[in-house]
Formats: sequence, structure tokens, C-alpha cells
Amino acid sequence: MALLETRNLTKEFGGLQALQGVDIEIAQGELVSLIGPNGAGKSTLINVITGMLDSTDGQISYAGTDLVGLDPYEITQLGIGRSFQTASIFPGLTVRENVEIASFATEHGSFSVNFFRRRDSYGEVQDRATELLDTIGLDDEADTAATELPYGDKRRLEVAIGLATDPELMFMDEPTAGMSPQETDMTVELIRDLLDEWDMTIVLVEHDMDVVFDVSDRVFTLHRGQIIAKGTPTEIRDDPAVREAYLGGESE
Ligand code: ADP
Ligand code: MG
Repeated sequence: MALLETRNLTKEFGGLQALQGVDIEIAQGELVSLIGPNGAGKSTLINVITGMLDSTDGQISYAGTDLVGLDPYEITQLGIGRSFQTASIFPGLTVRENVEIASFATEHGSFSVNFFRRRDSYGEVQDRATELLDTIGLDDEADTAATELPYGDKRRLEVAIGLATDPELMFMDEPTAGMSPQETDMTVELIRDLLDEWDMTIVLVEHDMDVVFDVSDRVFTLHRGQIIAKGTPTEIRDDPAVREAYLGGESE
């Protein structure tokens, strides 16, 4: 059974059909990459699933629960996380404080539907922050002001803030955008850790095709709001429709 499944998922912005009948299913433990040209609807798909945007039509189910109509915090508490944008980093706080706030707010900010995930003491919040900073390789920068981090470290701090909510499924929207090759390598390593050691399920939006073909179990291609291909990296690489829509002209 799929962990996450959408049926006929549709999103209109005024007259624009940003998503047109999207059907996807993602199994527990998979890494699925979403690719497609700019404006294809990748971020919209993530925003609709995570409740940041209301869908126009269609179904979304996560571990048997219907997500349509739920608020973002309810979806977070069901175990779906996302790596946030830089705007979610609190500029006045240290790296560690940023992760602690995210961890604490998840558990205490609104009522928690999952008591087993609850951290009741500040000590537990601190332990969790230490673990997360270690995972993303920022343990040496714990007491640095978050704003002073280099760009790549800031992006990985966003991932840690996303992880602070204890997700089982994590959406990562262009986590390597603007990174140096070395920062990209560190991020790929982090993604592998999340899959192998944390048993997570990941949906990755990524423009670097080397990264996509390297880490993905399956790749879904969106084009003008529609899924035009789903398959293994090899199948997608050789798919004529994908090459036409996306790879052709851009790579090589
Ligand atoms: P991608 O992430 O694949 O580049 P997006 O999901 O951001 O694409 O955008 C898909 C389409 O929806 C684009 O045409 C974009 O301009 C439009 N769009 C995205 N968000 C909004 C919004 N909040 N209001 C109106 N149009 C939007
Ligand atoms: Mg996008």
C-alpha cells in the first residue's frame, strides 16, 4: 500500500491549471524525485499536499488519512515535513536555538495528535537538537548566529528545521539550489543518511540531473501540471517524452 497517494489532484490559479489530474503513489522508504521545467507545477504539488494551498479538486491520502481540508500544522503532526525556505530561519538566534524552537513549537505550539512523538521536557528538545545538528553536520556551528552561516550551511539548517518536526515523509524543494559542488555533495550525503539511517521517505525536487539519477528510486516528470512519465532513473533518462519536454535542449 502506498504511504502517500493522490488521485486527480487539480489546482487552478484563476484560469491557470497549475496541476491537472495528478495521480502519484509513493511507498514507505522510497526516494522519489519530481522533475520538470520551471513552472511545471512541482512546488504547487508540494504546497497542495502539505496544506499550504487548497486543492481545487482531487484526493490526497497519507497512511490512510484524507489530507484534503486539513491545516498545515495538522499535516505536519501526521508526519509530513518539508524543508523550509530561508525566511523560516530566525535571524536573531543561534543555529541550535533555531532547531530547538522548531522542535519545541511542533510539540507545544498547537495540540499534538500524536502523543508518542511528544517531547515533554526542555531536556528532550535539547537532545533532539543535538542529534539533528550532528546529522546535518552543523554540530560545530551550534552556537553561531544563524545569519552568519555560509549559504550552503543555511540551506542545511533549513533541512534540520524541517526535520525537527519528526517527519516520516519529507518534501525537499530544490535543497541544492545555489550550492557549490562541495555543498551539493554534503547535501546528497545527508539525503542518503535520512533514507538509510532514519528510514525516511523523501520527495525531492532537484534540477541537478546527476543528483536525481544518483539518489532516486523513481522519478516522476511533471510538464504543464501533468505527470508525463514515472519510472526508474534509467527509464526516465531514456524516455522520449521526458527528453522532449525537459532534458532536450537543456542538458548536453
Ligand atoms: P515549479 O515549481 O515546477 O517551477 P510552480 O508550481 O511554482 O512550478 O508553478 C506552476 C504554475 O503555477 C506556474 O505557472 C506559476 O506561475 C503558477 N503559480 C504558482 N504559484 C502561484 C500562485 N500562488 N498564484 C498564482 N499562480 C501561481
Ligand atoms: Mg518550484
